[in-house]
Amino acid sequence: MKNFIDQRNMKRSNAAEVFNLIRENGKMTRREIADTMDISWGAVSTIVARLIEEEYLVEVKDSSATSAKGRIPFCLEVNGEEHFAVGIDVNRSGFSAVLVNLKNHVLGKWTAEADFSSRESLTCGVTDFISGVLEHTEGHRVRCIGVAMQGVVDSEKGISYSLPGCKDWESVNLAELIRDKFGIPVYIEHDPNCILYASLTDFSEDTLLLRIDKGIGMAATLGGRILAKSGILEVGHTCVVRDGRPCMCGRHGCLEQYASMRGIAKASGMEFSRLAEAARNGDAKASEYFNEAAKYLAYVISNVSHLLCAYNVLLCGDMCGYRDLFADKLTCILANSAPNVKVSYTDVENAPLGAVLIAIDRSLEQIDI
Ligand SMILES: [Zn+2]
Repeated sequence: MKNFIDQRNMKRSNAAEVFNLIRENGKMTRREIADTMDISWGAVSTIVARLIEEEYLVEVKDSSATSAKGRIPFCLEVNGEEHFAVGIDVNRSGFSAVLVNLKNHVLGKWTAEADFSSRESLTCGVTDFISGVLEHTEGHRVRCIGVAMQGVVDSEKGISYSLPGCKDWESVNLAELIRDKFGIPVYIEHDPNCILYASLTDFSEDTLLLRIDKGIGMAATLGGRILAKSGILEVGHTCVVRDGRPCMCGRHGCLEQYASMRGIAKASGMEFSRLAEAARNGDAKASEYFNEAAKYLAYVISNVSHLLCAYNVLLCGDMCGYRDLFADKLTCILANSAPNVKVSYTDVENAPLGAVLIAIDRSLEQIDI
């Protein structure tokens, strides 16, 4: 379990499990932790000792409870006051950041415009943005920074291999670049994974997430793990129309060309927002693009759900702001073709929060227990 990142899967380690369990419950005794996690008291005691030493946890007396012998028991609590963590989302529509303490209380949120015109302008923009956020952390230690990235990401190496919209962005070790500038551990993660991580309260139900904006990204949890292998789940480039519209990936008929905002705009020859406005005003030709998007999204969701036996599906992204134009048809097709599938919507604003939660988990992974 400890090497979850090495296995290219994310599953909370025992240290992260203990930490998150205490965070969710407020205060817990070692015995309660052992009983809940079904691990030995000794194992809990070892993990807790290291987490106290590393200042993730503090020990407090819980005067509201008494032990069987009438003593006031010692409880463990997350060290919520002293340490902070930062999550940021690097997105063509802009940067966004969240500052949290270790109790996961959001202390501040920020946004800024992002300049994707070159690798240099973007990396400078990212570090300037982080610098601005860190100005709000005076007197506190920032344990880690989590970064949600689009494109192809190797989260283990901290490398962003490609980034749509930024021409000379290739194999950028963004984690190292940020860490060297600020001296804080940095963890990079693919943005759909971050949104999914922050959107789920528990991981027991296998879930798919599709982020639909200019392109289409995907994440999935299976058996309590987020599938995190670099370059997988490229659902936007699965073929839905044989010999269909050409795609920038070099193939033809990819889902992105029929169901992403960029694909739809390109096919219609209209600006996306104007096309949507026309569809909302009853223009049948404009509506057809959204019907087509619903149809192909439904096919792909149905296929992937059945392939992975994951029937809980979350949709997010700018395209979902136009769901009045496609959601009914999508639901209708799925009701016939895949009645087990349950579709709901989540918010891309969860990306920086997911990034920081993953970063905290991964920083807990680094603790030698
Ligand atoms: Zn493609």
